[in-house]
Amino acid sequence: MRIEYDRDACQGHNRCYLLAPEVFDVDDEGYAVLRITGEIPSELEEKAKLAVDNCPEYAITVVQ
Ligand code: SF4
Repeated sequence: MRIEYDRDACQGHNRCYLLAPEVFDVDDEGYAVLRITGEIPSELEEKAKLAVDNCPEYAITVVQ
């Protein structure tokens, strides 16, 4: 499983970072940054999916 991130859609709520700080970081402007651009480790998949489900802008998506 991988995560795709759309920087243009991101509004910087940082819900993703709060829900899955192992997967997401925040840049200097408050927008999300992917900490893991490749395969998400299996132990972090549930957290990553939770963040995807809670992004109000649909800026992050799961790619199988
Ligand atoms: S939750 Fe979505 S909109 Fe908010 S910072 Fe994360 S990716 Fe961006």
